[in-house]
Amino acid sequence: MCDCRKVLEEKLLAKVQEMRPDAINITGSLAGYGFIIKNNKMTSRPTTTFDVEYTHKLKNGKEKLKKEKVSIALSHCPHCGEKVAD
Ligand SMILES: [Zn+2]
Repeated sequence: MCDCRKVLEEKLLAKVQEMRPDAINITGSLAGYGFIIKNNKMTSRPTTTFDVEYTHKLKNGKEKLKKEKVSIALSHCPHCGEKVAD
């Protein structure tokens, strides 16, 4: 897998340090990554989120709005397009 996440995080941390020269102990991480378990091995994968809303009926007959966030593992890096290793 490419190293876009690491490279971008390093650049962003350097940019923050440049913008805030008095800051110390700067940490940060790029959103849009998650972990999946495949073949008993945990690996980091780029992800995106699908926000979905729907109305469903409760057991008492009333309707209720439901909002869910579904995380989707991406097959390719969103930054460079390289295929993510299986
Ligand atoms: Zn990449």
